[in-house]
Amino acid sequence: MTNLKNQTAIITGASSGIGKAIAHHLANEGANVVLAARRAEKLNELAEEITEQYNVEAKVIETDVTKREDVEKLVSETKSAFNTVDLFINNAGVMLLSFLKNDHVDEWEQMVDVNIKGVLYGIHASLPTMIEQESGHIVNVSSVAGHEVFPSSTVYSATKYAVKALSMGMEKELSKSGVRVTNVSPGAVDTELTDHITDGDVIEMFKNRSMDPLEADDIARAVAYAVTQPSYVNVNEVIVRPMHQK
Ligand code: NDP
Repeated sequence: MTNLKNQTAIITGASSGIGKAIAHHLANEGANVVLAARRAEKLNELAEEITEQYNVEAKVIETDVTKREDVEKLVSETKSAFNTVDLFINNAGVMLLSFLKNDHVDEWEQMVDVNIKGVLYGIHASLPTMIEQESGHIVNVSSVAGHEVFPSSTVYSATKYAVKALSMGMEKELSKSGVRVTNVSPGAVDTELTDHITDGDVIEMFKNRSMDPLEADDIARAVAYAVTQPSYVNVNEVIVRPMHQK
């Protein structure tokens, strides 16, 4: 295991859930963290928590990952502040589950924009620097729904399969570049993710579902494991789901 002292980690979607937990774990390993999302107030609270608890710097950059220029600014401001971008955690995502017959086309677009285009913008903004550095690590947060399709997850799954395809392609293309790639696929985790679902049929279906979800920390530990391996070890895929999730 290598610690992350003097490394810089950008985490998108750091204002809640899994991203917030990842920020804590990477800071605990010694990384300076750059916290990105739209809700600056939440990010500022997290930055305060992190600087109080760990001997690292935490910088907040308000970012909408659907805006290419925001993500470019996220990386350029990180480089100005810390000189390097060692880790880019493409975690921001939305899961607006719906049945196709209910035609939530605006939500389909939002998922494509955040979950696919947002991840592409993260790659676009950070990869050239990592290639130039001949080192770096991009972690893409996909999902168990990026390996299987569930009722109502059709479009969400399509976006998360896309994330997995991006990770697989990057892993092959970048194998000699010094840049590592990890695709992380969580199962059900207790976060704000399901709060934004609007399809009444899905909300009804969820009322009858019983599952003990994971905690965000359970996923953050997996990310910390992947990014603290020696530089010759490339952890390409991690799937973590609750014991009882089928
Ligand atoms: P949360 O809803 O708690 O967190 C989602 C994060 O994404 C928030 O920080 C939110 O920040 C950010 N986000 C959403 N839209 C944008 C945007 N346009 N620009 C920037 N940031 C944005 O959910 P999770 O922590 O659970 O989700 C994190 C990732 O994990 C997602 O990619 C999700 O698909 C994936 N995942 C989660 C699972 C679960 O069961 N929870 C299972 C499998 C995968 P803000 O609103 O402040 O912008």
